[in-house]
Amino acid sequence: MANIQLRNVVKAFGAAKVIKGVDLEIRRGEFMVFVGPSGCGKSTLLRLIAGLETITSGDLLFDGERMNSVLPSKRGIAMVFQSYALYPHMTVYENMAFGMKLAGASKEELDARVRRAARMLQIDHLLERLPRQLSGGQRQRVAIGRAITRDPRVFLFDEPLSNLDAALRVATRLEIAKLHHEMRDVTMIYVTHDQVEAMTLADRICVLRDGRVEQVGTPAELYDHPANLFVAGFIGSPR
Ligand code: ADP
Ligand code: MG
Repeated sequence: MANIQLRNVVKAFGAAKVIKGVDLEIRRGEFMVFVGPSGCGKSTLLRLIAGLETITSGDLLFDGERMNSVLPSKRGIAMVFQSYALYPHMTVYENMAFGMKLAGASKEELDARVRRAARMLQIDHLLERLPRQLSGGQRQRVAIGRAITRDPRVFLFDEPLSNLDAALRVATRLEIAKLHHEMRDVTMIYVTHDQVEAMTLADRICVLRDGRVEQVGTPAELYDHPANLFVAGFIGSPR
């Protein structure tokens, strides 16, 4: 059974339809990458899955269960954005732990989770610092660490590397690939417009265009057998 299933999902903002009937199945533990031009609906699709936007029509299922109107906090999802919104007056530790007490975790469990996430990302020596005492790359690691601390079953990334310089982008990309290997049961959906990121991280890539799915497949499938010129252009195969 698919972990996440979208059935004819439509999203309109007023009269403007931006997601135009998307069908997609994502397996548990899969690393799915969404690519497509700016404005094609990648972020909107992530926000629908996260519950930050409501679906206009169609269905969203998690493990076969309808999730259309389930609150974001009950979906077991953590999201990392392009701009790492850390609380400036809180330490790294507090940023990573914030909100978790409300979610019912004990102080001990919370502490263990924060330290485990910090170890995974090699930021354990930064826990007492404030965000302004960190580099951009370190801040993005804290944002990823905060998401890991929530122990999500689904991890959503919306262009998480696009504010980093080239060297940090590579380092953080490798870090995310490592996370995927360490968090085997966690489904990851990752938005990018960077071909290298898509090709190196993805188990499968979903190419979007103007609110619709053009093609879904492994990087090799899309590269060797693009459905059309649009996909070929995006994935970079020479035809
Ligand atoms: P992408 O992430 O692929 O660049 P988005 O999902 O952000 O694209 O946006 C898809 C389309 O939906 C764009 O045309 C955008 O202007 C529109 N859109 C996104 N959010 C809203 C909103 N809250 N209200 C109105 N239009 C929106
Ligand atoms: Mg976007």
